[in-house]
Amino acid sequence: MKSKLVYLDNAATTFPKPIAVTRAADECLRTYCGNASRGSNPLAMKSAQKIYECRELLSETFNCQPENTVFTYNTTYALNIAIKGVMKGGGHILISNMEHNATLRPVASLQRDGHIEYDTFDVYGKSTQEIIRDIDGKRRADTRAVCCLHVSNICSYTLPIDEIGKYCRENGLVFICDGAQSAGHIPIDMKRSCIDILCLPFHKGLYGPQGGGAMLLSEGVSPATLVEGGNGVNSLEFFMGEDLPEKYEAGTLCTPAVAGLCEGIKFLHSRDICEIQKHDCELFSYAESLLSHIRGVEICDRTRGSTMLFNIKDIPCDEVGEILGRENICVRTGFHCSPLAHKALGTLSRGGVRISFGVFNTPSQIDTLASVIEDISIGKLRI
Ligand code: PMP
Repeated sequence: MKSKLVYLDNAATTFPKPIAVTRAADECLRTYCGNASRGSNPLAMKSAQKIYECRELLSETFNCQPENTVFTYNTTYALNIAIKGVMKGGGHILISNMEHNATLRPVASLQRDGHIEYDTFDVYGKSTQEIIRDIDGKRRADTRAVCCLHVSNICSYTLPIDEIGKYCRENGLVFICDGAQSAGHIPIDMKRSCIDILCLPFHKGLYGPQGGGAMLLSEGVSPATLVEGGNGVNSLEFFMGEDLPEKYEAGTLCTPAVAGLCEGIKFLHSRDICEIQKHDCELFSYAESLLSHIRGVEICDRTRGSTMLFNIKDIPCDEVGEILGRENICVRTGFHCSPLAHKALGTLSRGGVRISFGVFNTPSQIDTLASVIEDISIGKLRI
């Protein structure tokens, strides 16, 4: 009989979803999924109401205005609008040396095509002061923005976004923050951290369905559009217009995913994000205590949080992942779309096994993982 599923890949996407999330997406599809902002029929109106409810929930959670809450397909899409919109017309942008490809690839391709230039600033293993000094040293007269993640996706390393935001505000730079791994795990306050643009997924720590993301703008921030088309506003005009959030929302929105996200956010509010953070850290410490006693296991970074990267000496991480999968334990192995972060951690040559926690994980699941890792390390389980 196949053993019980142990899902430890919540950094990729959270699973399972709270039952209220799946019910809300299902109810939307079954009972009212009209096309919001397209006419005033009852179903279009009901969808529009649900979408507005979600804007309010997001804006309460992250401290911005509901109309500055833009829906996208995912974090990558939100980051592309933010980066390409802010950098339209050229200039220089600074990104950290731990960025996901969702940030690295847009800036690298803009540079390759001669539109902008970018540099990286060092964050891994650096103090806040050193980070700010590095940003300051690399800032040029034409630097327009700083874009960095809040928490890494290969380990739980966390950037000092309050101080980076403050530096950007004082120096007239747009601060774009990638909250893909922190939203729902750590409280984020856009005003306190001086974040101009916060990019988020529905489907990770906010427990929403896949297919949605959000770009939250602070007041007065309005990057150029990436995609144009119908948004249900001023349909006779040839241009999208400046109204927020519709300026960035060309085409039909993912209403069932939005309906699910509403319940995901309510679920988080019912639990308290600080408690979730504590739960992540406790699971990390427990996993660390078990895994670090297994011969050959090397934990790549010990920052407590929702994500841990490790390797077993002499066994390729993909083999470890394959055996874990056979045992019904879901992790992610390899390079995690983050060459910069792997270089910073010293894992560029071999990648790593990533385990990542969500609210439904328990210490006994970590026991199950550790016992399989032990069996792999002693050669009892092999490919
Ligand atoms: N940034 C980070 C830090 C991530 O971990 C991820 C997802 N792995 C992304 C961006 C991209 O997120 P999405 O899949 O929602 O586009």
